[in-house]
Amino acid sequence: MPIATVNPASGETLKTFDALGAEAIEHRIAAAADRFRQYRLTGFGERARLLRGAADLLERDAPDIARTMTTEMGKPVAQARAEALKCVKAMRWYAERAEALLADEHPAEADVADSGAAHARVRYRPLGVVLAVMPWNFPLWQVVRFAAPALMAGNVGLLKHASNVPQTALYLEELFRGAGYPEGCFQTLLVGSDAIEAILRDSRVAAATLTGSEPAGRSVAAIAGDEIKKTVLELGGSDPYVVMPSADVERAARTAVTARVQNNGQSCIAAKRFIVHEDVYDAFAERFTAGVRELTVGDPLDESTDVGPLSSEQGRADLEELVGDAMSRGATALCGGARPEGYERGWFFTPTVLAGVTDAMRVHTEETFGPVATLYRVSGVEEAIALANATPFGLSSNVWTRDEEEMRRFVRDMEAGGVFFNGMTASHPALPFGGVKRSGYGRELAGHGIKEFCNATTVWLG
Ligand code: NAP
Repeated sequence: MPIATVNPASGETLKTFDALGAEAIEHRIAAAADRFRQYRLTGFGERARLLRGAADLLERDAPDIARTMTTEMGKPVAQARAEALKCVKAMRWYAERAEALLADEHPAEADVADSGAAHARVRYRPLGVVLAVMPWNFPLWQVVRFAAPALMAGNVGLLKHASNVPQTALYLEELFRGAGYPEGCFQTLLVGSDAIEAILRDSRVAAATLTGSEPAGRSVAAIAGDEIKKTVLELGGSDPYVVMPSADVERAARTAVTARVQNNGQSCIAAKRFIVHEDVYDAFAERFTAGVRELTVGDPLDESTDVGPLSSEQGRADLEELVGDAMSRGATALCGGARPEGYERGWFFTPTVLAGVTDAMRVHTEETFGPVATLYRVSGVEEAIALANATPFGLSSNVWTRDEEEMRRFVRDMEAGGVFFNGMTASHPALPFGGVKRSGYGRELAGHGIKEFCNATTVWLG
C-alpha cells in the first residue's frame, strides 16, 4: 500500500510520503534502545508530568487533528474530535493511576513462608522497546491506548501506523516530542507492512502489539512467536446485540443505530449482528430500520453528517461483495443495500439492514466492516446465546434485558471479552478491553493493559 493521504470523500490523493529506508529505520531503533536504558530509570512523577503535557497539547490541537483524521480516513468530524478528547482523558487517567496500578505486590507472608522467604514481592518493570502496529479506524485512540500505559510503565514505543493515515501518525510523534519526551521515547516509522518482520526480529525490540485484521495479527504473532517475544493482539469482531422481551425496545433500537454506524460502521466493537426475540422482533425491526433510514450520509467534514464514506475503495468493494452474496442467497434489504445516488466520487455506501440472514451467507460468519446490520429472529435465551456464539470472533457483546436470571446466563455463557447490558459496547480507560477466539488475546486499558508490557519480577529474600 502506498503511504499516502487519500481523501475517502473524494478519492483524491492529497499527499504522498516515501517509506523510510533501512538506514533510517536502524537509526530509529537504535535511538529507541538507547533511550530505554535511561527512560526506564525515570520515576512515575516525571513520566506523569510528560504524559499530562501531551494530554494538554492534544486537547489544544483536537479541532485541527480531528480535521486531519477525517480527511485521511473519512469519519464524521464531530466523532474525530470526540476521539481526540477521549485520548486526552486516557492520558490523564494513566498519568494519575499508573503508579498505584504498578505498585509492588506483597504476597501474604503465610502464603510464601514455606518457600523459605523472609519476605517476597512482585515488582512490575518495563520490557523495553515495544512495536505498535496500528489500524486507521481510530487513528489516535488505538495508538494512545497503547502508548499512554506503555510510556507510564517505562517502556518506549515505535509506531507503524496504517499506510493511509500518515499525517496522523506524524502528528503523534510530534505530540510526544512537543510535550518534552526525550528523543527516542516515541517514534513513528513511516513504513509499509513489508518492513515489519525485520523490525520485529531485531533483538533490540522486546515486544509487539497489533490492532487490525486477522491476517495481520497472524503474521505478526507468527514472527513474534518465532522470536519468543510477547504480543498483544486486538483483532476483528462481529459483536452480537441481543434484544430480549423485557427490553426497553425503543431505547434498544435507538442505541442499536449508533452501535452499528459509529465511525461509518468501521469499528471492531460495533454491534454487527442483531439477534432479536420473536416477541419484540417486529417492533425492534421497524424502529431500528426507521432510525437507520433517517441517517444523513454525506461529507464527513460537515457537522451534520452521521455517516461518511468508507475509508478505502477496497473496503467498500469488500462490503458490497458481502451484501451482494447475502442478497443473492435470499436476504432482504429492509433499507439500503447499494451505493447512495448522487455520489460519483468517494467511497460511500448507504446504511443497510439485512433480514432473513442464514448460515449459507458470508455475512453470517465474516465481519461487515461498514454500515451494514444483519437481523435475526430467535425464540429464547438458548437460541440467542447459541447464535451469538456462532462466530469465529469474540470481542464484545451487547444484551438488552431486565431479567436478572437471563443476565446471569449471558454473563456465564457469552464467548466474548465483554458483556454490556442495556447499552452499547464502548471502551473506557478504567475497563479492560480485548477479546477471545479470533478477536485476539491480551487486554488493553485499566490495570490489565498496563501490565501487558511489564516484566512481573519476583523479588525473594531468604
Ligand atoms: P489491517 O489491514 O490488518 O491493518 C492494520 C495494521 O496492520 C496496519 O498498520 C497495516 O499496515 C498492518 N498490516 C497489514 N497487513 C499486515 C501483515 N500482513 N503483517 C503485518 N502488518 C500488517 O487492518 P485494517 O483493515 O486497517 O483494520 C480493520 C481491522 O482491524 C478490522 O478487522 C477491525 O475489526 C480490526 N480492529 C480491531 C480492533 C480491536 O481493538 N480489537 C480495533 C480496531 C480495528 P498497512 O496499512 O501498511 O497495510
